[in-house]
Amino acid sequence: MPTYQEIVELEQQYLLNTYARYPVAFDRGKGVYLYAVDGKRYLDFLSGLAVNSLGYSHPRIVKAIREQSARLIHLSNLFYNEYQGQLAEKLCRKSGLDRAFFTNSGTEAIEGALKLVRAAGHATSGPNKTMIVALENSFHGRTMGALALTAQPKYRQGFDPMLEGVRFVPRNDVAALQAAMDENVCGIVLEPIQGEGGIYETTPDFLQACRRFADQRQAALVFDEIQCGMGRTGKLFAFEHFGVAPDVVCIAKPMAAGFPMGAFLSKESFAQFITPGRHGTTFGGGPLACRVALEYLAIIEEENLLERVQRVGAYLSQKLQELVEKFAIAKEARGVGMIQALQLTVPGKPILAGAMADGLLFNITQDTVLRLLPPFLIEEKHVDSAVRILKRHLAAAQKAARQANVATA
Ligand code: PLP
Repeated sequence: MPTYQEIVELEQQYLLNTYARYPVAFDRGKGVYLYAVDGKRYLDFLSGLAVNSLGYSHPRIVKAIREQSARLIHLSNLFYNEYQGQLAEKLCRKSGLDRAFFTNSGTEAIEGALKLVRAAGHATSGPNKTMIVALENSFHGRTMGALALTAQPKYRQGFDPMLEGVRFVPRNDVAALQAAMDENVCGIVLEPIQGEGGIYETTPDFLQACRRFADQRQAALVFDEIQCGMGRTGKLFAFEHFGVAPDVVCIAKPMAAGFPMGAFLSKESFAQFITPGRHGTTFGGGPLACRVALEYLAIIEEENLLERVQRVGAYLSQKLQELVEKFAIAKEARGVGMIQALQLTVPGKPILAGAMADGLLFNITQDTVLRLLPPFLIEEKHVDSAVRILKRHLAAAQKAARQANVATA
């Protein structure tokens, strides 16, 4: 087994320098815990960034992977496999949508959805109906299409020219949305809860307006539920909380319990414009990924995990609210279920560093947001442990902020 130092040195020499990694290497996980190469245990409030919703080494997932990998891992999409249709049926029934396309990641689901709404625009109204409306502060992925929908300059800088035909409006600004919705709009794409942007929810009023304007313009309403979907809010789809049904929904991250997989699901009225040869993938929808995703959905249902997400999520919300009341540097608690955040008035990195030293994992987004994306398996006692650690490091950060203020006063 290589040491932490050996792992880091090898990566630094040979990997593209894309990730500012946290200073730890893991080699196994069990339940809601990850174990570092030096044996240290971490309580996981990140889930591989909203992926490992069933924690680690879930026996049913391990069994499904074992069995299926011994039978058939990959099969070309030139052929039928028994699980793709079963999974599509299940997801369509649960979402109220009609057809599925399977991918290997979130960004590919967005790319496919983009092609779908453009194809529908062209087919129904001609070559000018190509405009996509997206939200400021969004994050939809790193490929060129998804990047063009991602409003944050830090992700776009240096990669111009962007895909044309995207305009941004502020989240929850109905008037700005209305102004953006001219006859050339073929789609609205948004995250019902912005994840990377800092856990910001859209309002039901805004989503209803999106639905209304999309209908008026025969445009598709596309929800990116790659981070907030597949159970993370306590409902399988986040849009179920808002009472607004999309035409297309993109999902990924946890849908095959850590095995790479994504999808977009679409209403027939839009799906009809993608015909054989117009879109495709080598790996997407392979038998192993589909079988594991079916197992994921079965576990969520049979173990009543959505109820648990709601119950433990409410407890987590209450505890975060208490932190807001106790610490001046904790400005606001946001989110629901297993997608929550604590907005700070100071940078979060030192708090994360301290928490990691105490064996707790989460992540910082937008510099000052503590983002918590725990596995669906956490219980109240895990929330208590996490909050205990957070308290300690919030207190230290608050003290440091006060001392800095005194020093500069
Ligand atoms: N959309 C949202 C809302 C996301 O949070 C992410 C990833 O964080 C993506 C799209 C891109 O997914 P992936 O990294 O699987 O390509």
